[in-house]
Amino acid sequence: TIKLDPGAALLLDALHGAGHAAYAVGGCVRDSLLGLAPHDWDLCTSARPEQVMALFGEEKCIPTGLQHGTVTVKQGGRLYETTTFRTEGAYSDGRHPDAVCFVPDVREDLARRDFTINAMAYSAEEGLIDPFVGRDDLAAHLVRAVGEPERRFEEDALRILRLYRFAARFGFAIDPATGAAARALGPHLDCVSAERIQEELLKLLAAPRPGSYLEPAVLAVILPELEPEKQPERFAELCRTIDRIEPTAENVPARLAALLCPLGEAGARKALRKLKCSNALTDEVTALEREAGGGAGSFLLGHESGHSIARPIACGNRVPPQRTVLGETPGTPNTTLTVQAKRLLGRYELPTIQRMTALCSARHPEQAVAFAALRAEAEQLTAENACCRVSQLAVNGRDLMAAGVRPGPGLRQVLNALLEAVITGQTPNEKDALLAAAAQFSAS
Ligand code: ATP
Ligand code: MG
Repeated sequence: TIKLDPGAALLLDALHGAGHAAYAVGGCVRDSLLGLAPHDWDLCTSARPEQVMALFGEEKCIPTGLQHGTVTVKQGGRLYETTTFRTEGAYSDGRHPDAVCFVPDVREDLARRDFTINAMAYSAEEGLIDPFVGRDDLAAHLVRAVGEPERRFEEDALRILRLYRFAARFGFAIDPATGAAARALGPHLDCVSAERIQEELLKLLAAPRPGSYLEPAVLAVILPELEPEKQPERFAELCRTIDRIEPTAENVPARLAALLCPLGEAGARKALRKLKCSNALTDEVTALEREAGGGAGSFLLGHESGHSIARPIACGNRVPPQRTVLGETPGTPNTTLTVQAKRLLGRYELPTIQRMTALCSARHPEQAVAFAALRAEAEQLTAENACCRVSQLAVNGRDLMAAGVRPGPGLRQVLNALLEAVITGQTPNEKDALLAAAAQFSAS
């Protein structure tokens, strides 16, 4: 049975009191029947948007999408999307339905929805309204299109991605006819906007084990450069890698990086741009690709083991654009775990390092223990506020100039050298010791 959230119950009562039909609908009904806590409650009603606004008052309402019938109502600190019963035509621009038509009957509204498990409505008075027997599909762990799948995917091809997203989220099977239509109509995703595709792809990657839901025929349309159909073995391995990364919201960029691994850093950046990902996400995923990806493929496999990670200390005022340490096996003899972790913290924030180690462990499970140790070390150093960056040194440029170091690029070099000395434990991060070391560097 369904327990309405108090705000939703209040708004439904008010709508009923004014003579309108009104229900909780979609995801909240599905999640309640699954025994999960809905993250938001969407309502649908026979009331027109202007009637909803008049009933609740302008100050409680946000006119989210009046032409589509949607008003967001504020109640008890929460937001309730309230949408007038409607039907809709095709999405010929791939973004918005061409025409929406308000209708009096909730059943017509449910018929425009994508999957039977998403096409149920509920009110305390009438109970469950379930014309497409979504409840049986929920019990059978099945995602099935409402109506004829080909037609529904032709109307809005984004539903193809939504199919895999919902199936992956709950670990459900896909109704065979629905799955066949999705594979066949995959090319229609070409007309869907990059933003909508990106949103669904990220949600799919957030599922517990998305690997088996990354349908090659569909990926071949949205990310053809991955060649999922031409290189099925490689693609299957990518999917297994993704499933090995712990399914947290924080790890979604790591899973995306795992998916884009074969493209290398530059190719991944291009793909992320094409999907119109935010700059923050693009930078994050490319950093993961650079340090933990498989572009060169040689670091983790030890082909570069002769290459010392002890970089030259005076390297100008920029960190050189080479790999730091994750590319190498943690704990190789030329460094200690602590120094490795500090070098990483010098270049990346802790959450990025946590994602890097998650990605490395998934790609190389045999070394997972070592990567977990590196991650724990980075966490410990962060908690201790250990010095990993020039800005954390106990001296700054002004102190050095006061001690006689000349301004200019040389100053930055001395600071970098001091940082290196602190990171490797040659010098404590204390002002006097650092000034003494600086005097030596500038003399030499
Ligand atoms: P979530 O918990 O991820 O938000 P949800 O079921 O609420 O799941 P939404 O994407 O928020 O999913 O959409 C809300 C409801 O609107 C869906 O349950 C579905 O009934 C309907 N819906 C959303 N997008 C579409 C679409 N492209 N085609 C048909 N119906 C859709
Ligand atoms: Mg929702």
